[in-house]
Formats: sequence, structure tokens, C-alpha cells
Amino acid sequence: MTWRALVLVLLACPLFANDLTVAWISREPALEYVWGSTNPAVEGWPLVGSTVTWRAHVRNWSGSAATLPYVWRADGVEIARGNVTLAANQYTTVDLARPWSFTRERLSFAIADRSLEVFTDALAVGFWVEQSVYDHFRLLQPQFGMGSTGFEDWAQRTMAFYNDMAALAIYPETPNGVHDRYRLQKIVIVPDRTLPLNGLPDEATPGANGGTHPDKDDRTVDLMWGFRTEAWTTYRNTTDKSPSNAFYVGYNVLHELGHARYLVDIYAWDVLQRPPYYRINITENGAPIFGKYISTFRSPEQGLMNAQYTFLDRYSAIALNFIAGHRAVMGNYNEPRNFASFLNDFPRENRLTIRDDTGAPIANADVWFYYSVANGESWYATNYDDTPDLQLRTDANGQVLVGRAPFATDGKVVHTYGMTNGVSIVRVAQGEKIAYGFLESRLFNLAYWRGHTDFAEHELYVGVDCDGDGPRLVAPSWEAVSSDGNVTLDWNALSGATRYHVYASTNLGIPRVIATTADTQATVQLRGRTHWWVEAEVGVCGTRRSATGLVNAPEANVRRRAVRH
Ligand SMILES: [Zn+2]
Repeated sequence: MTWRALVLVLLACPLFANDLTVAWISREPALEYVWGSTNPAVEGWPLVGSTVTWRAHVRNWSGSAATLPYVWRADGVEIARGNVTLAANQYTTVDLARPWSFTRERLSFAIADRSLEVFTDALAVGFWVEQSVYDHFRLLQPQFGMGSTGFEDWAQRTMAFYNDMAALAIYPETPNGVHDRYRLQKIVIVPDRTLPLNGLPDEATPGANGGTHPDKDDRTVDLMWGFRTEAWTTYRNTTDKSPSNAFYVGYNVLHELGHARYLVDIYAWDVLQRPPYYRINITENGAPIFGKYISTFRSPEQGLMNAQYTFLDRYSAIALNFIAGHRAVMGNYNEPRNFASFLNDFPRENRLTIRDDTGAPIANADVWFYYSVANGESWYATNYDDTPDLQLRTDANGQVLVGRAPFATDGKVVHTYGMTNGVSIVRVAQGEKIAYGFLESRLFNLAYWRGHTDFAEHELYVGVDCDGDGPRLVAPSWEAVSSDGNVTLDWNALSGATRYHVYASTNLGIPRVIATTADTQATVQLRGRTHWWVEAEVGVCGTRRSATGLVNAPEANVRRRAVRH
């Protein structure tokens, strides 16, 4: 036998490289959430001091059994070790008993060259996957060439990216980010075309299926998603290690899990003219205003629950922290009955200062509000007829009191199938001058959540055309590796932008501005695993944020060794 042949035999030995993976770590017993609980931060969780079992599910992909040493660690410190025999071609479990505490620990299980770390106080996620989807992942995930062995590793990568996003969702209202983390509690492999296992709940909205409700009766998890045979085509790009590739990371699933956690679609605040489901029938002198006075309106609140999945939007971050540490209460599927329960958190009274495109207040002007009404057969359908629903007048300061909810005649905003009414189209007429603007109920929510429950001030610009998108990142690519940390960050110019602020977070630390420039690139020195993004200043439109990028740089300055030639 040659040396080369011997090396090949060694590599072919079981349980090296990609022959095993730590698939998930469950917490046993698997407790059910309490339907309708008024104390979900306690109910449904283990009793403090009681013993829980952490169970590592290890998948051996090879045809031979093997006995290997393993180590459990808490916050990086070894707490248990042993040996386990992994049966061929199946899951083997390894248990660790510990007293339960709500104090967050990072618990990890390591075996051979594989390990998995979870947050002990995380919400429990369950994935149901039909056999051929599971097999498809097993066949194609390894083609990424990064040690991903199948569905389990993809699922854990997806959990990890969510947990990073939660840590980085730092806004004035969420100075410590989003509290909750996700932990995969179970993967259930089921025969093809069997999802949903137990039908759909009565309140399910159109489009509900085995993806949204894989097993509505399973209350052991806080969040669930199902992977149906029909959906496999979403998962087939084996080359693109980018956030937009669902087969690399399931940001699309994270968006849907956001709904299972009661979040709404931010893009429901967009206003489109796309008949028959999205209609703006307002006219000036008999002619439609769309295309002349207004164009499509897109909410500037970008992020996971809008169309940009690499970071948690501010609105959703705040809403998530209202239920921090809570188990599910009225459904762990998309959508639960507490869906959007925060949507009508409005200050009792609100005052708008109405400004023109230069920022000047528009005094003594007629202000008409047009509400959207039900429009039938589409998600978030909108319908603005030609009759104003509220007619007011600004004072000498361009200000007007609008009451609690100038969005609906019954004062109630809904985002649902067949209707959304979260935006009023506002017509402002001062003499011959006419301009339009869009007023989002989202802004009233934000003011209320900042503590202005009785009274809040808002500004509304009219006659300006603001795009909701932020700058688009160009380079470096996602997860690029820099050998020396000297990196040129590059993005596309955003129309109307005057300056760009580059933010960076090192190893999930507090994000900081590392460059401000009128240019569309910045050469910076990075350290460690760095998330970065760009915020553009766009005059009266405010600021617009890019997606998040990820660069791996050296942890610290590596002292150069003198090399003698
Ligand atoms: Zn959605």
C-alpha cells in the first residue's frame, strides 16, 4: 500500500470530516405552551431549580458505528465529558441533566470536529420536513463545500443567523437588541405530502398550508415551519453563499417565523396602484393623481419583515421585545391569534406638522385624508376612493390635530387578507398649490411605544417622492475573508443621498459608525467577525439603510515574524 492509498483509507474512516453532525439539542421534557396564558414568561417553562435534560441529537451519516469522546460546555467551560457509540446511519442521543434557570447560558456539545452551541433560555423552534425535501438537502448541501451535511446543518445555520440578527437589532428603543434567541427543539421527518399533519385551525387565513401549520396541535415548540415537497425548488442553488440564497440560509423561513411570533409584514404599509387589488381612485380635476401627484409609496422601515431579510427592522424589534421571554400563547404557527396585537397602539391625540418639499410648514391649508377600505381577494388589498374621509385645516404654524387614528372611520387599522388601511393619503391645498403625502400608522405606533401614549407630534412631508430602499451593498461578498483586515467596502449610490454612514459591529458588539463619506466606498480596518451596513442621508426623506454585510477579518493584529530568506 502506498502512502497516498493509506491517507485515503484514513480519510474514508467513519466520523471524520462530514460523516457526522450535531443535529440539534432538545430540552426534555418537552413542555407545552399554555394556550391563552396570562403569564407566559413562567407558564410553559420549567420550574426554577427543577432538573431538565439537554439532549444532543447526533447524526452519524456513515455505514459504520463508532465510539467517540464528547464534551459539554456552558459559557465555554467544560461541565461534562464522556464517550458515546454512534450507531451507523442514524441519530444517537447524549443527555446532560442540569437544574433549570432562566439565566442565559451558551450550552455547547462537541464531538469529533463538530459542535453545536445553543442559548439555554431560547424559544423552541420545530421544523417538520417531508422525506424527499430532507433527502434533497442531504444530497446537495455538501456541495457548498463548507461541511454542511444536510437539512440539520442548514437549519442550524439559519438559527445562528437569526440569533446574530437579534443581537444586532440595536435601536434607541432596543438598546440591548432583541432579547429572545431561537433554538431548534425538534426536526420531524415525515412522508411526502403529509403536511399539515393535523389540518389547519379555523382561523387560518388564505394561503395557509403544511408550511405555515405543519402540526398545529404540537404545543411543545414556540415556533414552527413545515418543508413540503412542493417547496423544494426554493432550495437548489448550491454555489451562492449569499443571504439571498434560501438554500444557503433560510432567511425566507425566518421571515415567516416572524409572523408565527405575531409580527406583521412591514410592506403592508406600501401603497401601490395595481388594479384590481391595489387601487388609488383619487382624482384632481377628473384626472387620476397617480403618476402626476404621487407615485408608488414604499415604507422606509426596511428589514426582516419588509423585503430586506439580513437584519431585524426597528419596528419588529420593538414589538418582539414586548413579548420577550414569553412562550407562545395563541398559536405557534403563522399566523397565531395574537398576530398584530400591537397594531393599534396609537397616542390618544396626534398633531401633524405638514411641510413642503423644502421643509417649510404649510400654513392655513386644507388637509384631506383618504382612507383605504376593503378590496377583496388579495393580501393587503387597498382601495382609496375619491371621497375624503376626514377634512381638516392647518393653523398658522402648518399644524393640525388629527385625533387618534386618521386611518379608518372606525379607528381600527388592519393588515390582513383583502384589506389593509395602515396608510392615509393626505391632500394638502393652499390656494392653488396642491400636494399629496402618505401618513403611516406605523409612525403612530412608534410614538406610542416611545411613551407618548396621550399625545404625539409627527411631521408629514408632502410633494416629495421618497423611495423606501436603502443603498445596495456591492462588495465585499457575504462572509468574505480578509487576511489583514484592511477592507474596502463598496455600495451603490442612492438617488438623493448626500452622505453615507458606515456602521460596523465586531463579534456582535455594539455597532459603531466607522466611516462617514459622500463617496460610495470606504477603506477601513476591521477586526474579527464584522457585520456592516450603510445608512444614507436623503434630505427630507430622512435616512435609508442598506442590507447587512458580513466580513471575516483577523481577530487582532498578528505580529509579523521576521522571515529570513
Ligand atoms: Zn410576510
